[in-house]
Amino acid sequence: MSKHVLVLADVRDGKLRNVSLESLAAARTVAEDGTITAAVFGSSGKDLADTLAHHGADKVVTVLNQELDQYTTDAYFQAFKKVVEHVQPDVIFTGHTAVGKDVSPRVAARLGTGLVSDCTNVELAEGKIVFTRPIYAGKAFVKKVVKEGTVFATLRPNNISAGEPDTSRTAVIEELQVDLTSDSLRTLVKNIVKKSTEGVDLSEARIIVSGGRGVKSADGFKPLQELADVLGAAVGASRGACDSGYCDYALQIGQTGKVVTPDLYIACGISGAIQHLAGMSNSKVIVAINKDPEAPIFQVADYGIVGDLFDVVPMLTEEFKKLLA
Ligand code: FAD
Repeated sequence: MSKHVLVLADVRDGKLRNVSLESLAAARTVAEDGTITAAVFGSSGKDLADTLAHHGADKVVTVLNQELDQYTTDAYFQAFKKVVEHVQPDVIFTGHTAVGKDVSPRVAARLGTGLVSDCTNVELAEGKIVFTRPIYAGKAFVKKVVKEGTVFATLRPNNISAGEPDTSRTAVIEELQVDLTSDSLRTLVKNIVKKSTEGVDLSEARIIVSGGRGVKSADGFKPLQELADVLGAAVGASRGACDSGYCDYALQIGQTGKVVTPDLYIACGISGAIQHLAGMSNSKVIVAINKDPEAPIFQVADYGIVGDLFDVVPMLTEEFKKLLA
């Protein structure tokens, strides 16, 4: 039975995040002959419609209010709820991102529908959507089927391939008016102060070089950053490194940090505590560098290098420089 799927585009700084395209690919998998509608918020909405169409949207609903240029819970909640009520989809996908994790449960609760969070895959079986999600901090996966009714699902970035765009596709564009009155918005973003370190976005990075307590100081992250620069990678960290004050908590990966699924994860001076593994063990290839051959990280690593990271990491950087020159 064909399904009407709604995808909320995740926009940052006026650009689509890759998880939006992955969500459209997931929508294609489950929609059969049904319609795929993408919702995009903020004043750049119309500019993003073509890309959404190229990746599978049949229809793009824009809500162009300036109040939606930056995410706030109240504004997105009102706009998203109105779009869902207007579109009447069978299933709604958002990224399992800061935006999706905040707005989807709110709208789902308000509309009295179900939600499956942190899905790593969606597929069709006998006409029903089967959602796969990790349990026990990533140690196992469970498959869920929602028997009836509308359902929201948040999709973990970097798990479903976005596929290639089809530039011949076009979408019907509809502009929806949403009245966002100032007294209904409890938070207004006045100014955004960006961190001076602009790098690759950790949650969507294809390669991550991550440092633990073994880097020993903030300066100890420098060789990791050099390797990351050569590879076009993002830098991450264990909580051990964050707690020791070597780096910002924004870099923390794990149970209480970010959950990442890059193609390549290089763990440097990280012991491999269960709480760290919860955030990175689904990486496609894991390389561990640790001077302790008994470190638990080697149990999940595809490649292990027993050695001092301050010797090994610069060597890797030099070799990759030659390879990528
Ligand atoms: P350590 O365990 O101290 O390991 C350092 C490693 O570096 C050692 O294996 C050592 O052999 C190696 N080393 C030292 N020097 C070198 C060198 N020169 N070269 C190579 N290797 C070297 N942790 C997270 O990471 N993320 C989380 O989200 C998280 N959430 C948590 C939530 C809760 C509720 C709790 C209780 C804990 C959580 N933790 C989390 C903490 C976790 O239990 C570990 O304490 C933490 O991951 C350890 O960080 P680490 O591996 O960097 O440090």
